[in-house]
Amino acid sequence: MRAAVLTATNTLVIEERPMPVRGEDEVILRVRAAGICGSDLPRVFAGKVYHFPLVLGHEFAGEVVDAADPALIGTRAAIFPLLPCRKCAMCAEEEYPLCADYDYYGSRRDGAMEEYLAVKIWNLIPVPEGLSLEEAAMCEPAAVARHAIMRAGISGGERVLVFGAGPIGLMLGQWAMSMGAASVAFADIDERKLVFAETMGFGRQTEGAKYDVVIEGAGAPSALQGAIAAAEPFGRLVLMGNASRDMDIPQAVYQQILRKQLTLTGTWNSSYNSRVNDWKAALEAMASGALSAKPLITHTYPLEEVRAAFDMMGGREAFYNKVMIVM
Ligand SMILES: [Zn+2]
Ligand SMILES: [Zn+2]
Repeated sequence: MRAAVLTATNTLVIEERPMPVRGEDEVILRVRAAGICGSDLPRVFAGKVYHFPLVLGHEFAGEVVDAADPALIGTRAAIFPLLPCRKCAMCAEEEYPLCADYDYYGSRRDGAMEEYLAVKIWNLIPVPEGLSLEEAAMCEPAAVARHAIMRAGISGGERVLVFGAGPIGLMLGQWAMSMGAASVAFADIDERKLVFAETMGFGRQTEGAKYDVVIEGAGAPSALQGAIAAAEPFGRLVLMGNASRDMDIPQAVYQQILRKQLTLTGTWNSSYNSRVNDWKAALEAMASGALSAKPLITHTYPLEEVRAAFDMMGGREAFYNKVMIVM
C-alpha cells in the first residue's frame, strides 16, 4: 500500500509500505479522505514533528475493511485521533484531550495520509447514511468548533464576532447560528477569506461595533487586541487560536478587560466522552443539514499529489479553505 511519508523537513515521499497489522483492539481502515490541517504546515515546512519519518493526517474518515468482529466490516467511520493513556487524573474524568501522556494519529504516531491504517475501535465514530466520507473527514474541525462555541455558551440572540475565517471559524459560525445567535461576523487579514465567509451568509466586522461573544481563532496578538476591543461590556471572549508568538497586550487594551468586566475562556480541542461527544454531535449536525461541511472543501488531491497540496497551501497565493487528500 502507498503512504505519503514525511522523511525530513520539507521532504514528503510516496512510499510503498506493507499492509498494517491490527491489534486486538483495532480494525484496519481503508482511508478515503484526510484533511490537511493548518497545524500540518509547520510539520512539513519547519520540521516541527515528534519524529521522522512520520505519516501526517489527523482529520480523516474511511471504511473498515478488516476486524475481528465481522459486524464492523464495512462500517464507514470518522476517527477521533487521540489515544489517551487511561491512567492519569484527566483520563479518569474522561477529559481525554487533557491527558498527561496521550498518543495521536498523524502527529505522535503515523496518521491517515496512507491507504490503510490500523485504528482503535474506541476511536471510530460511525458516519450516518447520506454523508460522504469527505464530509466526515471534516468532523475534527467541526468538533473543535463546537467545543469552542459551547465554551462561549450561546443562549440565543447574541451578536458573535469570530477572528479567523478558516475551516474552524466557518464551522463555528454555523454552530453559533444553529444555537440561536442573532448574527455572526468575521474578521480576517485575508480579504478572500472574508469574501468566502460572505458567500456562506456571514457578515464582516463593523468598525466600532461591539459584540456579545468574540472568538479569537487567529492566535495573533493583533487579533487578541482586536477581540478585546470589540467585546461589549460583560461580553464573553473565547481564546481558541494557537499562539503563533507572544500574545502581548498594550496596557490600555488590557485595562478594557477589567473595565468592561469581560469573561475570558480558553478552549482546547473537543470533548469525546460519555457526557459530551462533540464528534458524534458534529456528524449528526452534518447529517441533519444544520452544519454544512461540503462548501468548505475547496481543494482535493489524490495521495500522489500530496506535495502539490502542501505547496499550494504553503505558497498562500491561491485561496483555499479546507484542502483534502482523497483516496
Ligand atoms: Zn486539525
Ligand atoms: Zn491520560
